[in-house]
Amino acid sequence: MSERTPLIAGNWKMHRLVSESVALARAVLHRLDRASAAEVVVAPVFTSLHAVHEALGENARVKLGAQDVFWEDEGAFTGEVSAPLLKDVGCEYVIVGHSERRQHFGETDDSVRRKVGAVLSHGLSAIVCVGETLEQREAGRTEAIVLGQLDAAVQGLSTLERVVIAYEPVWAIGTGRTAKAEDAQAVHAAIRARLSSRFGPSQAERIRILYGGSVKPSNAAELLAQPDIDGALVGGASLEAESFLGIVAAAG
Ligand code: PEP
Repeated sequence: MSERTPLIAGNWKMHRLVSESVALARAVLHRLDRASAAEVVVAPVFTSLHAVHEALGENARVKLGAQDVFWEDEGAFTGEVSAPLLKDVGCEYVIVGHSERRQHFGETDDSVRRKVGAVLSHGLSAIVCVGETLEQREAGRTEAIVLGQLDAAVQGLSTLERVVIAYEPVWAIGTGRTAKAEDAQAVHAAIRARLSSRFGPSQAERIRILYGGSVKPSNAAELLAQPDIDGALVGGASLEAESFLGIVAAAG
């Protein structure tokens, strides 16, 4: 039995007005089972972060995350948001390298590496997303792609403290298609083995590796039962308190 605390993180993407975000955060907080073993994070849009933090309160059972970050601390970078600015509004987690950012906004392995560095240097935790496209999977390149993205993201780090990895097959995100639990487990095990070879077995044993891609209350238990799946990064199903909490419940 692993000692790792399960982590369930909700990525609200570009959804919800401020008032709706606050209502959703309150619903998650108030209906969360106090006995739940899971750590719970919600990642609203930037414009809702401050209000959601106020609604959750300090040291709340539900933690605040951001969906992206820029690597510089401040300066003439119109439209960007830095790690110190995210920390200032109460963020503890930052999602880095989500496949939608890689697909639509030119995120590269190099920008992911810089962002991870910025997040960690300000004492925040990074949820680093890696995953293959359908074409890459069908070409038998899943491990090569995922481990390549992983190597780039952790390059230069001396510790995995405050790093979380999210394995998100691109073909499973927002599509209703989920990886088979045993296929996801195989990729998670490969990620942990790679981290073990780079950072040593004890760090690799401690790091949490989340699965993401159409996770729902109905499939969460089977995925979370896998030995190397330590939680979930949830998109669509995190937009309603009931379905999100159903996934949290599956984490024990
Ligand atoms: C995500 O956005 O990280 C995600 C996994 O989305 P969904 O759960 O909707 O597939």
